[in-house]
Amino acid sequence: MPEFDIIRRYFQERTSPAPFVHVGIGDDAAVLAMNNDDELVVAVDTLVAGVHFPHSTEAFDIGYKALAVNLSDLAAMGATPAWMTLALTLPQADERWLSEFAEGLFSLAREFNVTLVGGDTTQGPLTISVQVGGVVSKGKALLRSGAHVDDVILVTGALGDAAYGLRLMQQHRKDIPDVCLERLNRPHPRVMAGQKLLGLATSCIDISDGFYSDLMHITTASQVGAIIELENLPLSRALSVDNMSYTDKYHLALAGGDDYELCFTVAEGQMQVAQTVLRELEIPCAVVGRITADQGIRLQSLETGDIKLDTLGYQHFS
Ligand code: ADP
Ligand code: MG
Repeated sequence: MPEFDIIRRYFQERTSPAPFVHVGIGDDAAVLAMNNDDELVVAVDTLVAGVHFPHSTEAFDIGYKALAVNLSDLAAMGATPAWMTLALTLPQADERWLSEFAEGLFSLAREFNVTLVGGDTTQGPLTISVQVGGVVSKGKALLRSGAHVDDVILVTGALGDAAYGLRLMQQHRKDIPDVCLERLNRPHPRVMAGQKLLGLATSCIDISDGFYSDLMHITTASQVGAIIELENLPLSRALSVDNMSYTDKYHLALAGGDDYELCFTVAEGQMQVAQTVLRELEIPCAVVGRITADQGIRLQSLETGDIKLDTLGYQHFS
C-alpha cells in the first residue's frame, strides 16, 4: 500500500476535526490557531540510517540534514522558524559522534534562530526525528491548494544534484562533484525565499520526493493540472557537463529526491515581482511551466514534443 494511502486510510480519515486546526494533514506542515495575529506552523520529519542517508554519512551532516529537511517544510509554508524538538534513537552513546552531530544540528539552528525545546533519547537503530515549529501571520501561510489556472510555475535553485550525488556514491565513485555532495549532505532550506513569497505565491511545496510527484501534490490539492517545458527545468551544471543521456538527466531532475528547493505558482502578473524578490536574495529561480484546467501533468519537450514520464524511467509507486 502506497504511503499516502496509509496516511489517508488509517490516520487522516480517523482524526477528528478541531476548531484550532486551520490546515491539518495533507500539506507540508500543519497550521494551528494561536491567541494573537499569528498562526503556529508545525512539521516533523524522520531520517533513518540506511534509508534516508548512507551509513557512511558524517555525523555533522546527519545533524545538519535532520533539521534542514524540516526547515524546508516550514519554508514551503512561508513560516518563520522558532523552535524544534529532537527524538534521537542511537545504537550506542559515541561521544565523538554526538559532538559532531550536535555541531551540525546547531550550526543550522543558529542560522535560523531555532531553539531546541525538548525531545526524547532512546537506544536502537540510528533514527533521528526533528519536529519544528514556526509562525506565520494569520491566514497568510502558503498552501499546496491555491494554484489557479494560468498561474505560472516556478522552481528555485537546481534539480537533480542530490540524486546524482547519491547515485555516484552508490557506485563507489571517487570523483563526485562537490556541488552534488553539498546538496545531498547539507541542503540549505529556502526559508528566506518562502517568507518573501508570502502574499505573492498562490501555492507552494518543497521538493523532497522529486519535482514531478511534488508538483502533483500541488495540482491535486488545487484541482488543476500543469504543463511543464522540460528544457526549462533548472538542471545543475553537474548534470549538464557530465556525459549523460537526455533520459537520464531528466529522470534525475523529475524523479530524483532530496532537492529541497521550492516549487511555487504565481499569477502571471506577479511573475516578475517574484523573480525580482528572489534575485535580491541571490536565489536562482526558473519559470518551468503553467497551470492548466486539464488535470494531470503534461511534459512538453521542444526537442521531441510531448514526453511520457515512463520513457524517462519514472516508476509510479515505487
Ligand atoms: P512532506 O514530504 O512535506 O514532509 P509527507 O509526504 O511526509 O510530507 O506527508 C504528507 C502529509 O501527511 C503531511 O501533511 C504530513 O503531516 C501527513 N502525515 C504523514 N504521516 C502521517 C501520519 N502517520 N499521521 C498523520 N499525518 C501524517
Ligand atoms: Mg514538504
